[in-house]
Amino acid sequence: MKHVLPQLPYAADALSPRMSGETLEFHYGKHFQTYIDNLNRLVAGTGFEDMTLEELILKADGGIYNNAAQAWNHEFFFNGLSPVPSSVPSVLEDAINANFGSPDSFRDEFTQAAVSLFASGWVWLAVTPDGELRIVSTPNAGNPMRDGLRPLLVVDVWEHAYYIDYRNRRADFISAWWDLVDWNVVGKRFQNA
Ligand code: MN
Repeated sequence: MKHVLPQLPYAADALSPRMSGETLEFHYGKHFQTYIDNLNRLVAGTGFEDMTLEELILKADGGIYNNAAQAWNHEFFFNGLSPVPSSVPSVLEDAINANFGSPDSFRDEFTQAAVSLFASGWVWLAVTPDGELRIVSTPNAGNPMRDGLRPLLVVDVWEHAYYIDYRNRRADFISAWWDLVDWNVVGKRFQNA
C-alpha cells in the first residue's frame, strides 16, 4: 500500500490567525508529507509494505514505527481541528466531569501537560479499555494505542507546530489551539471508542 497525504477537512488558511496558512504550508505540506514519503521509502519491499498505519504503530519499531506514527498522529491532529467553533457534546462532557471534576480542571490539567512536556511530542486525551479518560504525554512519535488506549484528542507540541506563528511561546499556541478543537469530531471518536 502506498501511503498518501490525506486531504485537510478545511482550506489551508481557514484556521488563521490562530494557525496561519504559512504554518499549514510547512506543518501539513512539508513535515507531514515528509513522514509519508519516508514511510513509503522504508516499507518498500519489506513485510510492512501492506500494513495500515495503525498496524504499523502496533507492530513496527525504529524508523518505520516513527514515520508511521507521525503520519497517523498528524492526520488525527489535523482532523481534530475546525475553523467553526464547537462545544463539547454532553456525553463527552459527562465523562470529562466524572474523570477530571469539571471542564475547567480538565482543560487546566491538559494545558499543563502540553506546556510542560520537556520534549518534542504529543499530549493526548485517550480512553482506557474500561472507559476511563486519561491525559497522556508521549515524547517524539509516541501513540497511546501502543498501550491499549484509544486516542480522542491530541495536540502536537513539536516546535514545528508553533514556531512560525508563536516562536518559543508554546503556551500561547496551546491557548489558540483550544479554540480550534472540533468537539464534534472528538465526541464521535469517544462514541466509537
Ligand atoms: Mn507536527
